[in-house]
Amino acid sequence: MHYQHWIDGRWQPSASNLTFDTPEPATGARLATLARGDATDVERAVAGAKAAFHGAWSRVDPHERARIIWRIGDVILERLEELAVLEARDGGKPLANARAIDIPRAAETFHYFAGWADKLQGDTIPVRGPYLNYTVREPLGVVGAITPWNFPFLLAARKIAPALACGNTVVLKPAEQASLSSLELGPILKAAGVPDGVLQIVTGFGAEAGAPLVDHPGVAKISFTGGTDTGKRIMRAAAGTLKKVSLELGGKSPNIIFADADLDAAAKGAARAVFYNQGEICTAGSRLLVERSVLGPVLERLEAATRAMVVGDPMQSGTGIGPLISAEHRDRVAGFIGRAEAAGATRLLGGVGEGAGYFVHPTVFTGVGPEMELAREEVFGPVLAVMAFDTLEEAVALADATDYGLA
Ligand code: NAD
Repeated sequence: MHYQHWIDGRWQPSASNLTFDTPEPATGARLATLARGDATDVERAVAGAKAAFHGAWSRVDPHERARIIWRIGDVILERLEELAVLEARDGGKPLANARAIDIPRAAETFHYFAGWADKLQGDTIPVRGPYLNYTVREPLGVVGAITPWNFPFLLAARKIAPALACGNTVVLKPAEQASLSSLELGPILKAAGVPDGVLQIVTGFGAEAGAPLVDHPGVAKISFTGGTDTGKRIMRAAAGTLKKVSLELGGKSPNIIFADADLDAAAKGAARAVFYNQGEICTAGSRLLVERSVLGPVLERLEAATRAMVVGDPMQSGTGIGPLISAEHRDRVAGFIGRAEAAGATRLLGGVGEGAGYFVHPTVFTGVGPEMELAREEVFGPVLAVMAFDTLEEAVALADATDYGLA
C-alpha cells in the first residue's frame, strides 16, 4: 500500500518527496509506504486549514455542521469491516477488538459530538451600570491534533469530532507507527460532505512533522495524546506561541483486590485490565495490589485467566493478544522484564515471544517492591506487577505512590 498526505481534499506527496515504510507487527514485513512530512508540508496543511476555516467551513451554520458530523459516523459504520482490518494489520490488535471497539466507538464519537454543534452558547453576566455584558463562544481556528499508535482511529476521532463541532479546522499528525486508518479519515470526511481543507493529515515522525505543528504560529491549539515526556516537550514548545494545549499522557494505574472480593471475577478483571490491547493502553491496570491473605488464591486464578488468553495472529478469530506495535517497542518491553528479574522480582509466567512478529506473552511478576522500576514506570505492554498489602491504609498509600495520575 502507498499513502500520501491528505491536504486540501486530495492525496499529496511530501514536498521533499521522501517516504518511510511501516511494518505489519504480526510478521515484521512491510505493510505500507507513507509520505515523510516535514515543516514545509505542515506549512501547506496549516495554510489550507486556515483558508478553509475562513472560507467554506465558516459559512456552514451549526445545524448543518451537526448533520455533516453525524454523517461522518454513518460513513465510518458503512466502512467498518475494511477499517477494522486496516487497524488490526497496522496496529497488531486483534481484528475482533477493532471490529467491536475501535471503529464503532469512533463512529459513536462523531455521532455524539454532532449533537454539540448547535448547543454551544455563551453567558450573560450581570454588571454594574446600564450595560449588557455577554460572552460568545467562537471557534479557535486551526487545531493541531497529535495522536499515538495504540488506538489510532478512535483517538483521532476523539480529537477531530469535538474540534469540528466547535467550528474549527484540524491538522492531524498521526503516530508514524500506525497512520493508515487515520489517513482514511480524509476520504471519509469528504464523503460525508466536509469541505476540503477542514481536515488535513500530515504523516511522518514526531520531531519532523509533529514539532513544526506545535511551533506553528497559525495553529491556535494542540490536542495531544501520547507519552509523558513528549507531552512535557510539547507544553514547553507551545509556550513559544502561547497556544492552548490539551494533554492525555501515560499511567501506572492500580487495581486493588481485598480479601472479601469475588476472587474469580476480580482476577479475570485484573487480567483483562492489563492485557487488553497487549497492555498498550494508557489506563492499563499495570499494578495489582492484593490483600496478603488472598494472594495465593488470586495468583492461581490470575495465572489461569492469563493462560487462557490466546496470543497470536490478530486476524485469526479467537486471538486475544496480538503483537506489540514495533520491534523497538518489543525490545523496550523486554528491557523492563529483564530489569525486573535482575531487581529480584519473580516472573510467574510470560516473556518475550519468538519469530519475526513483535510478540510478548502476557507476563506476571510477583514480589515487586514499591521502589522497583516495574512498580513505578509505565511499560505500555503486557506486563503486570503484583504487590501484596496488609491494611487499607497501606493499599491506598501504595496505589498513590506514583507520579502518574491517570486511572
Ligand atoms: P509518543 O509520545 O512517542 O508519540 C505520540 C505522538 O507524538 C506521535 O504522533 C509522535 O510522532 C508525536 N511526537 C513525538 N515527538 C514529538 C514532538 N517533539 N513534537 C510533536 N509531536 C511529537 O507516544 P507513543 O509511543 O506513540 O504512545 C505511547 C504513549 O502514549 C504512552 O505513554 C501512553 O501512556 C500514552 N497514551 C496516553 C493515552 C491517554 O489517553 N492518556 C492514550 C494513549 C496513549
